[in-house]
Order: sequence, then C-alpha cells, then structure tokens
Amino acid sequence: MIGTVISIDRVEKRFGTFTALHGVSVDIADNEFFTLLGPSGCGKTTLLRCIAGFEPVSGGQIRLNGEDIAPLPPYRRPVNTVFQHYALFPHMTVLENAMFGLQRLGWGVVDAEGRARQALELVHLSAFLKRRPGQLSGGQQQRVALARALAPEPRVLLLDEPLSALDLKLRQAVRMELKQIQRETGIAFVFVTHDQEEALTMSDRIAVMSDGRVQQVGTPREIYESPANRFVADFIGETNLIEVPVLNISNGLAEVSLPGGRAIQCPTRLVDATQGVLSVRPERIDLCAPSEADLIATAGAQVYLGTDIQLKAHLAGGEQMTVRLQNAAATVLPQSGARLGLRLEAGAARLLAA
Ligand code: ATP
Repeated sequence: MIGTVISIDRVEKRFGTFTALHGVSVDIADNEFFTLLGPSGCGKTTLLRCIAGFEPVSGGQIRLNGEDIAPLPPYRRPVNTVFQHYALFPHMTVLENAMFGLQRLGWGVVDAEGRARQALELVHLSAFLKRRPGQLSGGQQQRVALARALAPEPRVLLLDEPLSALDLKLRQAVRMELKQIQRETGIAFVFVTHDQEEALTMSDRIAVMSDGRVQQVGTPREIYESPANRFVADFIGETNLIEVPVLNISNGLAEVSLPGGRAIQCPTRLVDATQGVLSVRPERIDLCAPSEADLIATAGAQVYLGTDIQLKAHLAGGEQMTVRLQNAAATVLPQSGARLGLRLEAGAARLLAA
C-alpha cells in the first residue's frame, strides 16, 4: 500500500499451546486513523502489544517503514502507547507528567519543557500546567496521557481502549477531540476498541477481528454496507440474517428466493452457492401493502426510540425480523398481530456465506 507506515505480515502469536493471533496481515498508512475492532478476547490488545514490542511475535513480521522491528526493544521503537488506565504520576504536575517520557529519552529540561508545552497546547490543557492529576476530570487526565504519549512525536500512536474509563457524554466529546488531534498531528493512530459505534465514528479504516483473525478491513462505510461475512454483518450494527436458497449467481449479483417465494437480486462476494444468508439492515426495510411486498409478516412488539420506532415482524416460517421505521412522530403503527407487507429497499440485502 502507498504510504504504509506499519506492515503487519502474517503475524502469529502463541501463549503456550493457545494461539491468540493466526497469521494476521494488515497494512496501516501514514496519517491514518486505523481501528482494531472486535469482541473481547479476539486478539486486539495482543496485536497492539506486539507492535509496541511488549510481546515478541511467534511468527511473521512487523515492519515499520519497511524495516523489521523485531530486534528493537519497546523504548527504541518510534511508537508510543496510551493505555486504558493512563497511569499518570499523582505527585507530578501536568507539565511534569508530559515531560517525563522525554526526559527518560535523554532530553534536557529546557527542550523537554518546550515540547511538553506544545503537546499540552494540542490537547487544550495549557491552562492546567501546574495542576496535579487528582485536580483534573477523567477526560482531562486522559488528555494529559495523550500529550505525554504525543510529546516525543512518535511515528505511530497506539491507543488501547483509551476512552472506556470515561462516561458516555465525555467519551463522545473526547472521540471528536481525538480524531481532531490525529488530523492535526498527521501521526498514524492505531486504536483498539470493542465499541463498534466508536470505531465507525472515528476511523479512516477498521480491521474487524474475531478469534485471532482479521475478518475484514475497510472504511466504516464498506464495513457497514458491504460486510464480508456473517460475523462482520452481525457484529457491526444491527442486522437481520435470513437463510435463503440461492437460485443463481453471476458477476457479483445473486438471485435468491425469499421466505414466501418471491425472488430478488442482491450483491454478493460469493461466486457459487446453493444456500446462503441474507443480511438486511433494519432501517432499510419499509412497510407496504401486502400485494406489493417482498415479505409477508405479522406485526409483533414495538419500541418507541424517539428518532425511530423498532418493530418486530414474524414471518410465516417462524423467522423474526427487526424493522426500524424512521420518523417516529409521523409513523402510524400497525396493530400487534396485524398482517404486514415488508419491502426491502433497493440494494438493502446482501448475500453472505451460510
Ligand atoms: P479485550 O477487549 O477483552 O481486551 P482483546 O481482543 O484485546 O480483548 P487479547 O487481550 O488480545 O484480547 O487476548 C486475546 C486472547 O489471548 C485471549 O483469549 C486471552 O486470554 C489470551 N491471552 C492474552 N494474553 C495472554 C497471556 N499473557 N497468556 C496467555 N493467554 C493470553
């Protein structure tokens, strides 16, 4: 990839007999906000620790600007890490905390202070230089940790769930700031999270992981709209998964038979299959007259969510679907038990491997 700063090439990581990473390959570009996303235990932190040098890889290679970094101890790698528990020194001021890493690298006091002040300005903490961590909010403490990690101007900043200790409102605010800081510094950020909303809102690209494997790499839009497989479709956002017979596939377009018999066309990465799983996002299903419907269902439970309404729809074969009707205020809801026509918006469905 052009402008690749980190190349993770078939990396294996074993802890005794357990394999945490099964040949992971990902290229991360200079200047990129790159997220490792996946459920607990999928290997995100392990991969980050391998990049940082806290864990040796068991196989494969990690290259920084084309050079294998295996021989470099953590402190010699031009990467820096921000952890979930940011471990500021409570007895030092904000400025001293931000200077700490630089001084450990051998910087003189005057230069270290100058650079630390710049980093603290970047995270909007110039007014707090003399305070101690105990006199700051959680979000401000996290920003000190960020300034401390940014001060040596690493090529890559690794962030391991740095927002998970913050409450929801603060987390949302800091997300935007973090993204802004990444843009301003132009440093590649490799961000670990299990929170898909966080990943979708902040990232240039996302690698979705499960069980020590990368399932898909793509932009937030690609991951959400064109999931590579059932795991990604189900993990990112909400989706309906319906087993269907496949009638025909050609040139990335499948013809499938919906429950009830109607045939529709939908995009797919499969080249050959007789059976598959259709993924349909709830917000891409509309109500319509049964005579015009792709699917016939019975209305079930409804939940009012302010911006939209979530409706459960039961198909004759026993499958349950979730429908999200936009514009809650204007929507007239069907009675529970009523016969419903469901129409899938054009391109709403994708065929995935069963
Ligand atoms: P979380 O979101 O919960 O932090 P994660 O995706 O970051 O999860 P990892 O911490 O990378 O997951 O762990 C991946 C797997 O490797 C887990 O099954 C974990 O138990 C295992 N593992 C991690 N570190 C070690 C270790 N030092 N020794 C043995 N097993 C380990």
